[in-house]
Amino acid sequence: MATSTTCWNCSAATGGAHFCQSCGKIQPLPRGADYFAFFGLPQKLTIDLPALEQRFHSLSWKLHPDHFARASEQERQLSLGRSSELNDAYRTLRDPIARVEYLLGLAGMRKEGQKKQQAPPELLEEVFELNESLDESREARQSGGSTSQMAGLRNKLESAQHKFESSLAAVDRELAKVSSEWDTALDAGADEAAKKKLIDRMNDILNRRSYVRNLVNGVRAELAQ
Ligand SMILES: [Zn+2]
Repeated sequence: MATSTTCWNCSAATGGAHFCQSCGKIQPLPRGADYFAFFGLPQKLTIDLPALEQRFHSLSWKLHPDHFARASEQERQLSLGRSSELNDAYRTLRDPIARVEYLLGLAGMRKEGQKKQQAPPELLEEVFELNESLDESREARQSGGSTSQMAGLRNKLESAQHKFESSLAAVDRELAKVSSEWDTALDAGADEAAKKKLIDRMNDILNRRSYVRNLVNGVRAELAQ
């Protein structure tokens, strides 16, 4: 992270801040700045949301185009780019899942087109049953199944929905636990190997989460038919 940046206007040291403290001019983003740095935060997963929101509003206001109406073209461009980055950074960091996804992305994980996700072993049987019920339900709908048949299938799907929603909640609890381990490790100045282990664990959890999330969405969609 760039810390020795100097203001393009007055050459004062900016320390990577959005605005020069000496002359108030908007500064280009330091090389390698990430969403956490954008808000002056460490790469920790526990974030004070009211403070983040306050900082977001204050930056939004400072970056408002009205404040750049008489500025140079370069400054206007900088403020536009910064505004859009601000919105992306805020949307990402305020959501605990998107926040972890982003952190893993910084660590080189979560690339598009990763290997196809497989059912978590402990859910294999339920996933198999769910897929059967989904097939039956679709067939019964298309061939106009009897009321009692439809009610039976609906029951099955609803209990599967509850089952997978509680799996999802369990995965979220696990993610919250490892997220707080990550923060503790960061505070303790953990080495790269220890950090990598936590990153890998979070990556596994997110893979499982997206698998279970898809199942839940699938059942919901069928039940909404
Ligand atoms: Zn300056």
